[in-house]
Amino acid sequence: MTAPALDELSVRHAAFEYVRQRADASGGVVTRAELESFIFAGEPIKLIDQSRGIRNPRQLIATLSILSQPKGPYDDDHTEDGLLRYAYRAGPIDSGDNRKLRRAAELGLPLLLLEGIAPSVFVPIAPVFLRRDVPDERYVEVAVDEGLRFVSLSTDETQRSYVERLTKLRLHQPVFRARVIRAYSTQCAMCRLRHADLLDAAHIIPDGRPRGEPVVSNGLSLCKIHHAAYDRNMIGIRPDLVVEVKPNILLEADGPMLRHGIQEMQGRQIVVPSMRGDQPDPARLRERYDEFAAS
Ligand SMILES: [Zn+2]
Repeated sequence: MTAPALDELSVRHAAFEYVRQRADASGGVVTRAELESFIFAGEPIKLIDQSRGIRNPRQLIATLSILSQPKGPYDDDHTEDGLLRYAYRAGPIDSGDNRKLRRAAELGLPLLLLEGIAPSVFVPIAPVFLRRDVPDERYVEVAVDEGLRFVSLSTDETQRSYVERLTKLRLHQPVFRARVIRAYSTQCAMCRLRHADLLDAAHIIPDGRPRGEPVVSNGLSLCKIHHAAYDRNMIGIRPDLVVEVKPNILLEADGPMLRHGIQEMQGRQIVVPSMRGDQPDPARLRERYDEFAAS
């Protein structure tokens, strides 16, 4: 076997920075075309395989990226301990893709995890680490955060909630944000601001409550100001999609941000996704609006 031509860590860190910049500029996603256009030291290195869910560039000794295609918000294949599980490919466990996958686990190298949310559209999560190789069951455990790399497996409730919290932060929230912003064509539902890096995915029913799931119909794409104002009940959204501003805020006199950014939203209709399944759920809007009105 010839020695690898490139420095493993330098390639990986440059690749992570490349995807991060692209994701920041486009609401948290990268496209297949972008993943296929990465160049390191003049050498093109594709960050995604053409057809397989694992990318093993010939220049590297271990796997560079793995692909996951969740069907729902919590559909990742998790171990009993709540960690993400990535299955070996078919075939021998010590050759081809499986050899490089297991090598990445053995060496503790950082990888890129790509969560597919639409054809050729992915949410990049990096770095992730393969924290445990389980050849008998043909899978590796993926730590989506450094903090999960060396966590010991136990049934302890505190430990489990730590794993869940970090997984939510590093995996589920970015996927939720990307899905929502994409559904709203990368604009604020209230003011139509189109700067991806100033957009958030707001929850209609807050996270952690019943029906507070990270699904698009419980989300709204809002700019930072409107997200904060919505969360603090300065602005409400009626189930018929009309914006209401709190009466005391309407009476306030202040500069242009208050006037144009908040007060002028009164009575406007929010924009919603064209796909019916992505539109805000009227029952959730009602529940949340009632809280706003009572606040
Ligand atoms: Zn806005």
